[in-house]
Amino acid sequence: MLNNLTQRLSRVVKTLKGEARITESNIQDMLREVRLALLEADVALPVVREFTARVKEKALGQDVVGSLTPGQALVGVVQRELADLMGGDAVPINLATQPPAIVLMAGLQGAGKTTTTAKLARLLTERQKKKVLTVSCDVYRPAAIAQLQTVTAQAGAEFFPSSPDDKPLDIARRAVEFARSHHFDVLLVDTAGRLSVDEAMMREIKELHGALKPIETLFVVDAMQGQDAVNTARAFHDTLPLTGIVLTKLDGDARGGAALSVRQVTGAPIKFAGVSEKIDGLEPFDPRRMADRILGMGDILALVEQAQRQVDVDAAQQLAAKVKSGAQFDLNDFLMQLQQMNKMGGLQSMLDKLPADMQAKAGQADMNRAERDMRRMQGIIHSMTPQERHKPDVIKATRKRRIAAGAGVQVQEVNRLLKQYEQMRDMMKKMKGGKMFKMMQRMGG
Ligand code: GDP
Repeated sequence: MLNNLTQRLSRVVKTLKGEARITESNIQDMLREVRLALLEADVALPVVREFTARVKEKALGQDVVGSLTPGQALVGVVQRELADLMGGDAVPINLATQPPAIVLMAGLQGAGKTTTTAKLARLLTERQKKKVLTVSCDVYRPAAIAQLQTVTAQAGAEFFPSSPDDKPLDIARRAVEFARSHHFDVLLVDTAGRLSVDEAMMREIKELHGALKPIETLFVVDAMQGQDAVNTARAFHDTLPLTGIVLTKLDGDARGGAALSVRQVTGAPIKFAGVSEKIDGLEPFDPRRMADRILGMGDILALVEQAQRQVDVDAAQQLAAKVKSGAQFDLNDFLMQLQQMNKMGGLQSMLDKLPADMQAKAGQADMNRAERDMRRMQGIIHSMTPQERHKPDVIKATRKRRIAAGAGVQVQEVNRLLKQYEQMRDMMKKMKGGKMFKMMQRMGG
C-alpha cells in the first residue's frame, strides 16, 4: 500500500541531492509531491493541508547535519510527521479490568468484523495467553453466527452459541454470565453490521454498549474504502465512544489514505491492522513502524536504482557470459565481484537504505566488520601474481605465507578467502546459465 507516496518521496529525495539545506524555494517541489501523493492515497484534504504545513515548518532552514543529504533530512521530518499523524505512540488493547474484559466489535457489513473477532481471539490466546470466548449478536445475517463459530475454532478459542431467534441483548448477557462463571479473561462480542450507517443499527449497538459496558469498543473498518472508511468511523464515533479502530485489508491494494487520516479525523487510535485473510493476519498497529514501512520502501526503490546505475554493465555481462560458457570462475572474477559491491557504495550505504527493522537485524557492528573484511579480501587478491589469480589451485603453503605477508594479514585470512572463493565458484557452477545469469543480466540492463 501507499506505493505512490513512497515513489513520489524517493523522487523528491533525488532532486534534493546536492542542495546544502532545505530552503523556501527548494521545498516547494517536494511539498507539492507530498501533497499529491497524499491526495492520491485518498487522505482527507484538511489532513493533507495541515500535514504539509507542519512538514514545511519543521523542515525549513533545517541544517543538514553530518552525512545526511537534505533529501534524507526531509524524509526524516516526513517520517516523524507521518507517525504523529497516525497517533505517534502505539496504543495497545486495554484488558485491565475485572475479568472478563469485554470487547465490543462494531462496523459495517463486509468490513471484516467477524474475521477480525476471530483473529483477535487468536492473537490474545497465542501471544497474551488469555482464555478467550467469542459470541455473535448478529441475528440478522443468516450465516453470521455459524461463520463466527467456524473461525473461532480456527483461532483455537471458545465460542458461545447463539440463535437468530434470540434478542442481541439477551445473547450478550448470557455470554457475559457464562464467561464470568467459566473464568474467561476476555469476551469478544461480534455485532450485526449493515450496509450503511442506519438508525436501527446505531440504537441496537448503543443498547449493547450500555448493557455490557465494554472496556474496549473497537470499530472495524475496511481500509480499501478510503475516505468512506474515515467518514463511517466518524459517524460511529459521534454516537458510540470508540476506544480504538481496526483497519482491515491493509494488504490489499488500498490507497492507504484511511490509515493516515482516520486517527486525525476521529481522534480514536488505530489499535490493529488486518494484513491478510488468514487467521493470523492481524497485527498490533504501530504508527512509527508504519511510517518506517511507508518510507522504507522508497529507499529500497532507490537502492535498486543505484545498483542499476552503478554496476559496471560490461563487466557484469562478461562475467555472466563466462559463467554461462562453463569457463572456470577464477580469483579475478571474484575480485571483480567484490569491486562491484564497493561501487554500489559499500555495504554500509546499502544497509542505510534498508527499512529500519531490517537494519536492526543486520546490526551496525556486523556491517562495519563486513566492510573491513571486504577491503582486506581485496588486499589479499592484489598480493597475488596473475598466475595465482587465474589458477588458485597452485596456491600452497609457501605462496600463502608470501601473499599474507604482502597483504599484511595472517595466513588464516588467506585460507578463509580461498574458501569463500571456492564456495562462490561452486555456486557459479551450479547456477551456470540459470538464475544467476538472468539476475546479472537484469542488473546490467
Ligand atoms: P463482516 O461482515 O464485517 O463480519 O466481514 P467478514 O469478517 O465476513 O469479512 C469480509 C471479507 O473480508 C471476508 O472475505 C474476509 O476474509 C475478508 N477480510 C477481512 N479482513 C481482511 C484482511 O485484513 N485482509 C484481507 N485480504 N481480507 C480480509
